[in-house]
Amino acid sequence: MKNILIIGGGIFGLSSAYALTERGHKVVVVDQGTIPHPLASSTDISKAVRLEYGQDVLYSKLTYKSISKWKTWNEVFDKNNYVETGYLMLLNGTLNDGLHTFEASSKKSLSHLGFELNHLVDEAFEEAFPILKDSGFNEAVFNPLGGYVKAQSAVQSLYTHLKFRGVEFILNNPLLSLSEKEGDLAFHFKKELTKSFDAYVLACGSMTPHLVPSLSSCMRITSHAIFGLLPKDPSAYSAANLPVFSADITNTGWYGFPFSKSNDCLKIAMHSNGKEIHPDDERKINPTDISALEQFLQNYFPSLLDARLVYTHRCLYTDTLDGHFWIDAHPKHPNLYICSGGSGHGFKMAPMIGDLLADLVEDKTNNYLDRFKWRQLNYLTESEEEARHKI
Ligand SMILES: Cc1cc2nc3c(=O)[nH]c(=O)nc-3n(C[C@H](O)[C@H](O)[C@H](O)COP(=O)(O)OP(=O)(O)OC[C@H]3O[C@@H](n4cnc5c(N)ncnc54)[C@H](O)[C@@H]3O)c2cc1C
Repeated sequence: MKNILIIGGGIFGLSSAYALTERGHKVVVVDQGTIPHPLASSTDISKAVRLEYGQDVLYSKLTYKSISKWKTWNEVFDKNNYVETGYLMLLNGTLNDGLHTFEASSKKSLSHLGFELNHLVDEAFEEAFPILKDSGFNEAVFNPLGGYVKAQSAVQSLYTHLKFRGVEFILNNPLLSLSEKEGDLAFHFKKELTKSFDAYVLACGSMTPHLVPSLSSCMRITSHAIFGLLPKDPSAYSAANLPVFSADITNTGWYGFPFSKSNDCLKIAMHSNGKEIHPDDERKINPTDISALEQFLQNYFPSLLDARLVYTHRCLYTDTLDGHFWIDAHPKHPNLYICSGGSGHGFKMAPMIGDLLADLVEDKTNNYLDRFKWRQLNYLTESEEEARHKI
């Protein structure tokens, strides 16, 4: 049994706390503010859960295992945080026209893994999704597995559960700096901690590369606008009529969710390269964001043009340059673990991320960890995440 301090109470930190507590370790979590923190990337209406990862089946497998755990968590927390709507890849064009490699290779890879996806064209497409009749899409691939997680609610559930399990939380106490010098691991918190620990897990989301200078050249923090729309007839956009969808994602960047009664809106957002910012910068939505949304609706979703914009939010990706998570021990400090680099697609895999981190702390072999280990990245490194709209 180890005494472990987790710094950062977003989904990466809390899922680590969950896995470590389940395995009998004694965990303390410290956060810069309250949990859920209003500026955390995990604090959001919803996050998409998709198995579709192009050719990259490692993430499909991790997501599949995570879905099973999300379902268990629904029972453990007695809360339907994971909602299985299925996942719909919408296309403007055809699956094999060479312009939809993400969709085509996702379908091919998932079929090889034994998942049954439904390729819908012409009348079958219109019959299945009448709401999309006059949209800019003419084909789709539907996977009954997948959906979304009510993100903020999931963080709240974990926090409540962990407190009940005896995990100590120290709130409103930011880590101000960290010394990385060999043999000199020193944490400087706003209020110094009196205890010392066997292991430290740094899961500070977008602050991670600012707190660990040797990571600053491997990660970039990018900002992304999120919109909530209230359609004239919300029931037409319920999950039965429109599951979680990607809207020809590599070509447009857009993806979205069904109408949510509890949030009184339908969320849509763009999965693109975004703009690099500092986490302390102002996070307002600007006219360019709004006109990009209007342009998308005009071209692809005219039925939503008269929907009311009722919610906007700007959220930060902790983008590693290669698009893969960062879960490993610091090379100079074997008892400091980094659990970060969500790269705009990490929430769905949170239940598995906690397990990966716990295996690392316990020195257990886990082949998935190879992908997320400490590595050298530089300005020539390109993101390997296939769903990303590269603009
Ligand atoms: C717009 C947007 C859309 C996304 N959509 C999806 C999606 O559809 N599906 C998906 O799977 N993923 C998605 N993601 C990615 C996902 O949200 C992230 O990978 C995930 O939330 C990262 O969690 P985290 O715990 O690493 O970071 P965060 O949630 O940011 O948590 C970090 C925590 O650390 C704390 N902290 C920060 N600095 C300090 C400090 N100095 N001292 C102490 N505590 C500190 C913060 O207060 C916070 O609580 C999206 C992200 C964004 C921004």
